[in-house]
Amino acid sequence: MAGRILVFAEQRDGSFRKSTFEALGRAKELGSEVHALLVGSSVASIAPSLGSYGATSVHTVEDSRCELYWSDGYAAALTAAIDALAPELVLLVATGMGKDLAPRVAARRNMAFLSDCIALDEVDGAFEATKSMYGGKVFAQVRSTRKPVIATLRPSAYPAPAPASAAAAVTPLAVELPNDSRARVIEVRKTEAGVLDVQEADIVASGGRGLKEPANFALIEALAKALGGAVGASRAAVDAGWIDHAHQVGQTGKAVSPKLYVAVGISGAIQHLAGMRTSKCILAINKDPEAPIFTMADYGIVGDLFKVVPLLTEEIRKAREA
Ligand SMILES: Cc1cc2nc3c(=O)[nH]c(=O)nc-3n(C[C@H](O)[C@H](O)[C@H](O)COP(=O)(O)OP(=O)(O)OC[C@H]3O[C@@H](n4cnc5c(N)ncnc54)[C@H](O)[C@@H]3O)c2cc1C
Repeated sequence: MAGRILVFAEQRDGSFRKSTFEALGRAKELGSEVHALLVGSSVASIAPSLGSYGATSVHTVEDSRCELYWSDGYAAALTAAIDALAPELVLLVATGMGKDLAPRVAARRNMAFLSDCIALDEVDGAFEATKSMYGGKVFAQVRSTRKPVIATLRPSAYPAPAPASAAAAVTPLAVELPNDSRARVIEVRKTEAGVLDVQEADIVASGGRGLKEPANFALIEALAKALGGAVGASRAAVDAGWIDHAHQVGQTGKAVSPKLYVAVGISGAIQHLAGMRTSKCILAINKDPEAPIFTMADYGIVGDLFKVVPLLTEEIRKAREA
Protein backbone atom coordinates (compact mmCIF):
# COMPACT_ATOMS: atom_id res chain seq x y z
CA MET A 1 0.00 0.00 0.00
CA ALA A 2 1.16 3.52 -0.80
CA GLY A 3 1.77 6.06 1.95
CA ARG A 4 0.42 9.59 2.00
CA ILE A 5 -1.73 10.77 -0.89
CA LEU A 6 -2.79 14.35 -1.52
CA VAL A 7 -5.96 14.95 -3.54
CA PHE A 8 -6.68 18.32 -5.10
CA ALA A 9 -10.39 18.86 -4.33
CA GLU A 10 -11.92 20.72 -7.26
CA GLN A 11 -14.83 22.98 -6.39
CA ARG A 12 -16.77 25.62 -8.24
CA ASP A 13 -19.14 28.05 -6.54
CA GLY A 14 -18.81 26.04 -3.32
CA SER A 15 -19.80 22.70 -4.85
CA PHE A 16 -17.45 19.79 -5.39
CA ARG A 17 -17.25 17.97 -8.66
CA LYS A 18 -18.31 14.34 -8.41
CA SER A 19 -14.96 13.38 -9.87
CA THR A 20 -13.28 14.82 -6.78
CA PHE A 21 -15.10 12.17 -4.73
CA GLU A 22 -13.97 9.53 -7.23
CA ALA A 23 -10.35 10.64 -6.76
CA LEU A 24 -10.72 10.56 -2.97
CA GLY A 25 -12.24 7.08 -3.16
CA ARG A 26 -9.36 5.78 -5.28
CA ALA A 27 -6.83 7.51 -2.99
CA LYS A 28 -8.34 5.74 0.01
CA GLU A 29 -7.97 2.38 -1.72
CA LEU A 30 -4.35 3.09 -2.68
CA GLY A 31 -2.89 4.94 0.28
CA SER A 32 -2.62 4.76 4.03
CA GLU A 33 -3.29 8.48 4.59
CA VAL A 34 -5.47 10.74 2.45
CA HIS A 35 -5.16 14.52 2.58
CA ALA A 36 -7.07 16.99 0.47
CA LEU A 37 -6.21 20.50 -0.68
CA LEU A 38 -9.11 22.89 -1.11
CA VAL A 39 -8.55 26.27 -2.76
CA GLY A 40 -11.13 29.02 -3.20
CA SER A 41 -12.39 32.32 -1.95
CA SER A 42 -14.46 31.07 0.99
CA VAL A 43 -14.36 27.31 1.23
CA ALA A 44 -13.72 26.39 4.87
CA SER A 45 -17.39 25.59 5.48
CA ILE A 46 -17.49 22.86 2.82
CA ALA A 47 -14.07 21.39 3.74
CA PRO A 48 -15.15 18.95 6.53
CA SER A 49 -17.56 17.17 4.17
CA LEU A 50 -14.58 15.75 2.25
CA GLY A 51 -14.13 13.44 5.23
CA SER A 52 -17.23 11.56 4.11
CA TYR A 53 -15.35 10.49 0.98
CA GLY A 54 -12.09 9.43 2.61
CA ALA A 55 -10.01 12.54 3.42
CA THR A 56 -8.67 12.56 6.97
CA SER A 57 -7.33 16.13 6.72
CA VAL A 58 -8.25 19.01 4.50
CA HIS A 59 -5.81 21.88 3.96
CA THR A 60 -7.49 25.08 2.86
CA VAL A 61 -6.19 28.09 0.98
CA GLU A 62 -8.70 30.95 1.03
CA ASP A 63 -8.16 34.16 -0.88
CA SER A 64 -10.59 36.36 -2.77
CA ARG A 65 -8.32 36.10 -5.83
CA CYS A 66 -8.95 32.34 -5.84
CA GLU A 67 -12.69 32.64 -6.36
CA LEU A 68 -12.22 31.72 -10.03
CA TYR A 69 -9.57 29.30 -11.18
CA TRP A 70 -6.22 31.10 -11.32
CA SER A 71 -3.34 29.09 -12.77
CA ASP A 72 -0.49 30.85 -10.95
CA GLY A 73 -2.29 31.11 -7.60
CA TYR A 74 -3.63 27.56 -7.58
CA ALA A 75 -0.23 26.23 -8.70
CA ALA A 76 1.41 28.10 -5.80
CA ALA A 77 -1.12 26.59 -3.38
CA LEU A 78 -0.66 23.03 -4.63
CA THR A 79 3.13 23.38 -4.67
CA ALA A 80 3.04 24.64 -1.07
CA ALA A 81 0.85 21.71 -0.02
CA ILE A 82 3.26 19.26 -1.64
CA ASP A 83 6.23 20.90 0.10
CA ALA A 84 4.45 20.79 3.47
CA LEU A 85 3.04 17.26 3.25
CA ALA A 86 5.58 15.39 1.09
CA PRO A 87 2.97 13.02 -0.38
CA GLU A 88 3.95 9.99 -2.46
CA LEU A 89 1.14 10.68 -4.87
CA VAL A 90 -0.79 13.82 -5.80
CA LEU A 91 -4.12 13.10 -7.47
CA LEU A 92 -6.17 15.50 -9.58
CA VAL A 93 -8.96 14.95 -12.05
CA ALA A 94 -8.39 15.36 -15.81
CA THR A 95 -10.87 18.21 -16.12
CA GLY A 96 -9.96 21.53 -17.71
CA MET A 97 -8.67 22.69 -14.33
CA GLY A 98 -6.73 19.51 -13.54
CA LYS A 99 -5.18 19.40 -17.01
CA ASP A 100 -3.89 22.96 -16.57
CA LEU A 101 -2.75 22.63 -12.97
CA ALA A 102 -1.09 19.20 -12.77
CA PRO A 103 1.64 19.64 -15.41
CA ARG A 104 2.53 23.12 -14.09
CA VAL A 105 3.13 21.74 -10.62
CA ALA A 106 4.85 18.59 -11.90
CA ALA A 107 7.31 20.80 -13.80
CA ARG A 108 7.87 23.05 -10.78
CA ARG A 109 8.80 20.17 -8.52
CA ASN A 110 10.31 17.91 -11.20
CA MET A 111 7.79 15.20 -10.38
CA ALA A 112 6.82 12.21 -12.50
CA PHE A 113 3.50 12.94 -14.24
CA LEU A 114 0.86 10.41 -15.30
CA SER A 115 -1.90 12.16 -17.22
CA ASP A 116 -5.53 11.25 -17.95
CA CYS A 117 -5.32 7.79 -16.34
CA ILE A 118 -8.24 5.44 -16.84
CA ALA A 119 -6.76 3.22 -14.12
CA LEU A 120 -4.10 3.85 -11.50
CA ASP A 121 -2.51 1.17 -9.32
CA GLU A 122 0.53 0.58 -7.19
CA VAL A 123 2.62 -2.24 -8.66
CA ASP A 124 5.86 -3.39 -6.98
CA GLY A 125 6.07 -0.13 -5.09
CA ALA A 126 5.63 2.09 -8.19
CA PHE A 127 2.56 3.82 -9.54
CA GLU A 128 1.30 2.35 -12.77
CA ALA A 129 -1.35 3.95 -14.97
CA THR A 130 -3.48 2.66 -17.79
CA LYS A 131 -3.81 5.31 -20.47
CA SER A 132 -5.95 5.35 -23.56
CA MET A 133 -3.72 6.45 -26.47
CA TYR A 134 -3.91 7.22 -30.20
CA GLY A 135 -7.56 8.17 -29.96
CA GLY A 136 -8.31 5.12 -27.83
CA LYS A 137 -6.85 2.60 -30.27
CA VAL A 138 -4.41 1.19 -27.72
CA PHE A 139 -4.15 1.05 -23.97
CA ALA A 140 -0.69 1.78 -22.60
CA GLN A 141 0.62 0.76 -19.20
CA VAL A 142 2.86 3.56 -17.97
CA ARG A 143 4.89 3.05 -14.82
CA SER A 144 6.61 5.86 -12.95
CA THR A 145 10.21 5.10 -12.12
CA ARG A 146 10.30 7.32 -9.07
CA LYS A 147 8.18 9.03 -6.45
CA PRO A 148 6.57 11.42 -5.81
CA VAL A 149 4.12 11.17 -8.67
CA ILE A 150 1.42 13.56 -9.81
CA ALA A 151 -1.47 12.00 -11.72
CA THR A 152 -4.77 13.06 -13.25
CA LEU A 153 -7.66 10.57 -13.32
CA ARG A 154 -10.19 10.63 -16.15
CA PRO A 155 -13.64 11.51 -14.75
CA SER A 156 -15.76 8.39 -14.07
CA ALA A 157 -12.72 6.09 -14.29
CA TYR A 158 -13.55 5.06 -10.72
CA PRO A 159 -16.87 5.12 -8.87
CA ALA A 160 -17.47 7.74 -6.21
CA PRO A 161 -17.68 6.01 -2.81
CA ALA A 162 -20.93 6.12 -0.86
CA PRO A 163 -20.56 8.96 1.66
CA ALA A 164 -19.78 7.85 5.21
CA SER A 165 -20.54 9.93 8.26
CA ALA A 166 -17.05 11.25 8.89
CA ALA A 167 -15.74 14.79 9.04
CA ALA A 168 -12.18 15.69 8.12
CA ALA A 169 -9.93 17.90 10.23
CA VAL A 170 -9.54 21.27 8.53
CA THR A 171 -6.30 23.27 8.67
CA PRO A 172 -5.52 26.52 6.83
CA LEU A 173 -2.35 26.25 4.78
CA ALA A 174 0.02 29.21 4.77
CA VAL A 175 0.84 30.11 1.18
CA GLU A 176 2.39 33.14 -0.41
CA LEU A 177 0.28 33.70 -3.50
CA PRO A 178 1.99 35.48 -6.39
CA ASN A 179 1.36 39.20 -6.71
CA ASP A 180 1.62 39.31 -10.46
CA SER A 181 0.04 36.89 -12.86
CA ARG A 182 0.80 35.99 -16.41
CA ALA A 183 -2.85 35.22 -17.06
CA ARG A 184 -6.14 35.62 -15.18
CA VAL A 185 -9.60 34.22 -15.78
CA ILE A 186 -11.77 37.28 -16.25
CA GLU A 187 -15.12 35.67 -16.90
CA VAL A 188 -16.75 32.27 -16.64
CA ARG A 189 -19.76 31.67 -18.86
CA LYS A 190 -21.97 29.08 -17.27
CA THR A 191 -24.11 26.56 -19.03
CA GLU A 192 -27.82 26.60 -18.21
CA ALA A 193 -28.52 25.91 -14.53
CA GLY A 194 -29.32 22.31 -13.68
CA VAL A 195 -27.69 20.90 -16.82
CA LEU A 196 -25.67 17.81 -15.93
CA ASP A 197 -22.11 17.83 -17.30
CA VAL A 198 -21.22 14.83 -19.49
CA GLN A 199 -18.08 14.26 -17.43
CA GLU A 200 -20.04 14.15 -14.19
CA ALA A 201 -22.78 11.78 -15.33
CA ASP A 202 -23.01 8.01 -14.93
CA ILE A 203 -25.14 7.86 -18.06
CA VAL A 204 -24.69 9.90 -21.24
CA ALA A 205 -27.07 9.94 -24.21
CA SER A 206 -25.46 11.61 -27.22
CA GLY A 207 -26.86 12.75 -30.54
CA GLY A 208 -25.16 13.25 -33.89
CA ARG A 209 -25.81 14.43 -37.41
CA GLY A 210 -28.40 11.69 -37.83
CA LEU A 211 -30.77 13.91 -35.83
CA LYS A 212 -31.05 16.07 -38.98
CA GLU A 213 -32.01 19.33 -37.23
CA PRO A 214 -31.57 21.04 -33.86
CA ALA A 215 -35.18 20.63 -32.71
CA ASN A 216 -34.70 16.87 -32.78
CA PHE A 217 -32.22 17.11 -29.90
CA ALA A 218 -35.43 17.10 -27.83
CA LEU A 219 -35.44 13.32 -28.45
CA ILE A 220 -31.99 13.00 -26.87
CA GLU A 221 -32.97 15.27 -23.99
CA ALA A 222 -36.03 13.12 -23.29
CA LEU A 223 -33.95 9.94 -23.46
CA ALA A 224 -31.29 11.40 -21.15
CA LYS A 225 -33.98 12.54 -18.73
CA ALA A 226 -35.62 9.11 -18.67
CA LEU A 227 -32.22 7.54 -17.98
CA GLY A 228 -31.24 10.16 -15.40
CA GLY A 229 -28.21 11.10 -17.48
CA ALA A 230 -26.55 13.93 -19.38
CA VAL A 231 -26.86 15.02 -23.00
CA GLY A 232 -23.78 14.61 -25.18
CA ALA A 233 -23.16 15.34 -28.85
CA SER A 234 -20.85 14.64 -31.75
CA ARG A 235 -18.80 17.43 -33.23
CA ALA A 236 -20.94 17.41 -36.36
CA ALA A 237 -23.95 18.37 -34.23
CA VAL A 238 -21.95 21.02 -32.36
CA ASP A 239 -20.41 22.48 -35.52
CA ALA A 240 -23.88 22.72 -37.05
CA GLY A 241 -24.85 24.91 -34.08
CA TRP A 242 -27.47 22.44 -32.80
CA ILE A 243 -26.02 22.27 -29.29
CA ASP A 244 -23.34 23.99 -27.21
CA HIS A 245 -19.72 22.81 -27.37
CA ALA A 246 -19.87 21.99 -23.62
CA HIS A 247 -21.76 18.85 -24.66
CA GLN A 248 -19.24 17.67 -27.27
CA VAL A 249 -17.67 14.26 -26.67
CA GLY A 250 -14.45 13.33 -28.42
CA GLN A 251 -10.93 14.30 -29.23
CA THR A 252 -11.66 18.02 -29.33
CA GLY A 253 -14.52 17.75 -26.83
CA LYS A 254 -14.70 15.96 -23.49
CA ALA A 255 -13.47 12.48 -22.64
CA VAL A 256 -16.11 10.48 -20.76
CA SER A 257 -16.21 7.03 -19.17
CA PRO A 258 -19.80 6.66 -17.97
CA LYS A 259 -21.46 3.40 -16.94
CA LEU A 260 -23.67 3.67 -20.02
CA TYR A 261 -23.10 5.65 -23.23
CA VAL A 262 -25.90 5.80 -25.78
CA ALA A 263 -24.82 6.99 -29.25
CA VAL A 264 -27.77 8.04 -31.41
CA GLY A 265 -27.26 8.88 -35.09
CA ILE A 266 -23.50 9.01 -34.59
CA SER A 267 -21.33 7.19 -37.12
CA GLY A 268 -18.42 6.49 -34.76
CA ALA A 269 -15.54 8.47 -36.31
CA ILE A 270 -12.23 7.84 -34.52
CA GLN A 271 -12.29 11.36 -33.10
CA HIS A 272 -15.64 10.64 -31.44
CA LEU A 273 -14.58 7.18 -30.24
CA ALA A 274 -11.51 8.78 -28.65
CA GLY A 275 -13.77 10.49 -26.15
CA MET A 276 -16.13 7.65 -25.23
CA ARG A 277 -14.65 4.24 -25.97
CA THR A 278 -13.68 3.71 -22.32
CA SER A 279 -17.38 3.82 -21.36
CA LYS A 280 -18.36 0.71 -19.39
CA CYS A 281 -21.29 -0.12 -21.68
CA ILE A 282 -22.07 1.34 -25.11
CA LEU A 283 -25.42 1.23 -26.89
CA ALA A 284 -25.49 2.43 -30.50
CA ILE A 285 -28.62 3.33 -32.46
CA ASN A 286 -27.99 3.83 -36.16
CA LYS A 287 -29.84 3.00 -39.37
CA ASP A 288 -26.61 1.92 -41.09
CA PRO A 289 -25.57 -1.59 -40.00
CA GLU A 290 -22.05 -0.85 -41.29
CA ALA A 291 -21.60 2.26 -39.12
CA PRO A 292 -18.22 1.99 -37.31
CA ILE A 293 -19.88 2.77 -33.96
CA PHE A 294 -21.21 -0.82 -33.97
CA THR A 295 -17.65 -2.19 -33.80
CA MET A 296 -17.34 -0.49 -30.44
CA ALA A 297 -20.84 -1.06 -29.10
CA ASP A 298 -21.85 -3.68 -26.53
CA TYR A 299 -25.44 -3.40 -27.75
CA GLY A 300 -26.66 -2.12 -31.10
CA ILE A 301 -30.03 -1.26 -32.55
CA VAL A 302 -30.11 -0.99 -36.35
CA GLY A 303 -33.04 1.23 -37.12
CA ASP A 304 -34.44 4.68 -37.68
CA LEU A 305 -33.72 6.74 -34.59
CA PHE A 306 -36.95 8.68 -35.03
CA LYS A 307 -38.85 5.43 -34.40
CA VAL A 308 -36.45 3.73 -31.99
CA VAL A 309 -35.65 6.56 -29.59
CA PRO A 310 -39.24 7.53 -28.63
CA LEU A 311 -40.13 3.85 -28.06
CA LEU A 312 -36.99 3.24 -26.02
CA THR A 313 -37.55 6.40 -23.96
CA GLU A 314 -41.12 5.36 -23.22
CA GLU A 315 -40.09 1.85 -22.16
CA ILE A 316 -37.31 3.20 -19.93
CA ARG A 317 -39.77 5.64 -18.33
CA LYS A 318 -42.24 2.83 -17.65
CA ALA A 319 -39.55 0.52 -16.29
CA ARG A 320 -38.25 3.22 -13.94
CA GLU A 321 -41.71 4.10 -12.69
CA ALA A 322 -42.61 0.44 -12.03
C1 LIG B 1 -9.08 17.16 -35.70
C2 LIG B 1 -10.47 16.65 -35.58
C3 LIG B 1 -11.07 16.59 -34.34
C4 LIG B 1 -12.37 16.09 -34.21
N1 LIG B 1 -12.94 16.02 -32.95
C5 LIG B 1 -14.15 15.46 -32.82
C6 LIG B 1 -14.75 15.32 -31.54
O1 LIG B 1 -14.21 15.74 -30.51
N2 LIG B 1 -15.95 14.72 -31.46
C7 LIG B 1 -16.62 14.24 -32.57
O2 LIG B 1 -17.73 13.70 -32.42
N3 LIG B 1 -16.08 14.39 -33.78
C8 LIG B 1 -14.88 15.00 -33.94
N4 LIG B 1 -14.38 15.18 -35.19
C9 LIG B 1 -15.25 14.95 -36.37
C10 LIG B 1 -15.37 13.50 -36.76
O3 LIG B 1 -14.34 13.16 -37.66
C11 LIG B 1 -16.73 13.25 -37.44
O4 LIG B 1 -16.86 14.13 -38.53
C12 LIG B 1 -17.93 13.46 -36.54
O5 LIG B 1 -17.75 12.74 -35.32
C13 LIG B 1 -19.18 12.96 -37.24
O6 LIG B 1 -20.30 13.21 -36.45
P1 LIG B 1 -21.60 12.30 -36.59
O7 LIG B 1 -21.24 10.88 -36.28
O8 LIG B 1 -22.66 12.95 -35.79
O9 LIG B 1 -21.99 12.51 -38.13
P2 LIG B 1 -21.91 11.49 -39.34
O10 LIG B 1 -20.56 10.91 -39.48
O11 LIG B 1 -22.48 12.22 -40.51
O12 LIG B 1 -22.88 10.31 -38.92
C14 LIG B 1 -24.26 10.44 -38.83
C15 LIG B 1 -24.80 9.04 -38.58
O13 LIG B 1 -26.19 9.12 -38.38
C16 LIG B 1 -26.79 7.97 -38.97
N5 LIG B 1 -28.17 8.29 -39.27
C17 LIG B 1 -28.66 9.19 -40.16
N6 LIG B 1 -30.01 9.22 -40.12
C18 LIG B 1 -30.38 8.32 -39.19
C19 LIG B 1 -31.63 7.90 -38.70
N7 LIG B 1 -32.79 8.42 -39.15
N8 LIG B 1 -31.65 6.93 -37.75
C20 LIG B 1 -30.52 6.38 -37.28
N9 LIG B 1 -29.30 6.75 -37.70
C21 LIG B 1 -29.22 7.72 -38.65
C22 LIG B 1 -25.95 7.71 -40.20
O14 LIG B 1 -26.07 6.34 -40.61
C23 LIG B 1 -24.55 8.06 -39.73
O15 LIG B 1 -23.87 6.92 -39.25
C24 LIG B 1 -13.08 15.67 -35.34
C25 LIG B 1 -12.47 15.73 -36.60
C26 LIG B 1 -11.19 16.22 -36.72
C27 LIG B 1 -10.54 16.25 -38.08
